[in-house]
Amino acid sequence: MKTLSGLNLSEIEEITNSLGASKFRARQIHNWIYLKSVKEIDEMTDLSIKFRDELKKVAQVTDIKIKVKQISSDGTIKYLLEFPDGECVETVLMRFDNRANLTACVSSQVGCAVNCSFCATGKRGFIRNLTYKEIVEQVLTIQRDTGLKVTNVVFMGQGEPLLNLENVLKAMEIFNENFQIGARRLTVSTSGIIPKIRELADLDMQSTLALSLHAPNHETRLKLMPIEGKYPMDELHKALKYYVDKTGRRITIEYLLIKDLNDTIQAVKELAAYLKDIKCNINLIPYNPTEKNDYERPSGKSIMQFKSLMEHSGKKVTVRLERGADIDAACGQLRGKVQ
Ligand code: SAH
Ligand code: SF4
Repeated sequence: MKTLSGLNLSEIEEITNSLGASKFRARQIHNWIYLKSVKEIDEMTDLSIKFRDELKKVAQVTDIKIKVKQISSDGTIKYLLEFPDGECVETVLMRFDNRANLTACVSSQVGCAVNCSFCATGKRGFIRNLTYKEIVEQVLTIQRDTGLKVTNVVFMGQGEPLLNLENVLKAMEIFNENFQIGARRLTVSTSGIIPKIRELADLDMQSTLALSLHAPNHETRLKLMPIEGKYPMDELHKALKYYVDKTGRRITIEYLLIKDLNDTIQAVKELAAYLKDIKCNINLIPYNPTEKNDYERPSGKSIMQFKSLMEHSGKKVTVRLERGADIDAACGQLRGKVQ
């Protein structure tokens, strides 16, 4: 049994060929899958009933299951999706005020080997990479479930996308070509895998690179992210500069704000100095408490103070709006609770 979701046009043509149908049938099926997001082959109403019956014998739309679905009061929808091997990942749909923008936050791996101390995903270790089809399926599942068209994709769910780069790049290509989501509406977030950042620079990636920096200096970053031992901030700085020079693109710096740990005035100064010669925007993420650690979220007042001090450095600074606070929306929390 073939699964149609995630196949490209020529792969669908192989199926229609084997049924003795024309290439045009493949194009129709492709449209039903990617543009009209059908759940069942029987919804493909411009195919004859006879042909649909033959198709149903060899193919199905999807093999992914929605295990849990939570809807937040702010409209954020969080899914726990199950693959045929029983592994689960989280996928989130965020609607911003401008309803025309629907952003899917997708996972790239089951679990994550990077093991950041603040992250619920990291706590459970690495299980396996997702295939590009499984990444694409997350967006298709959202579209099928809501009947809405996703306009932006961010790789900010579970996993480290740059440690599964081949599948992530292939999925991005499919988002681009089959979903008609422009390269600039795709964002890849990384904990800082230096050789892979250089590889993306050499590929001249036109999507947005987001870097989870989270700390103003080596010692603090090492506490939060063990990867700092392998890929330290001074080397990272060189790679970021290389990326900006090569691609001409502005990087997004993600900075988790944790009370008394990296939210001080001294931290602002060090961070501003570190980013001085890097073309970037800064996105502050107030820490979202997970079960097993002592970190705390700073007060609203100190978040705003950090923001305005940081703005003096001349960078554009935004605070990530809290999405789905009532539904375990921080990375890895839902999967953690269910399993
Ligand atoms: N592995 C990649 C992408 C997935 S994580 C990365 O780390 O960049 C996506 C973002 O969620 C990262 O910036 C991560 O630091 C952040 N995050 C993880 N746990 C969080 C928490 N408890 N509160 C707020 N943000 C968190
Ligand atoms: Fe992995 Fe990102 Fe979580 Fe760190 S924050 S453990 S890199 S998913």
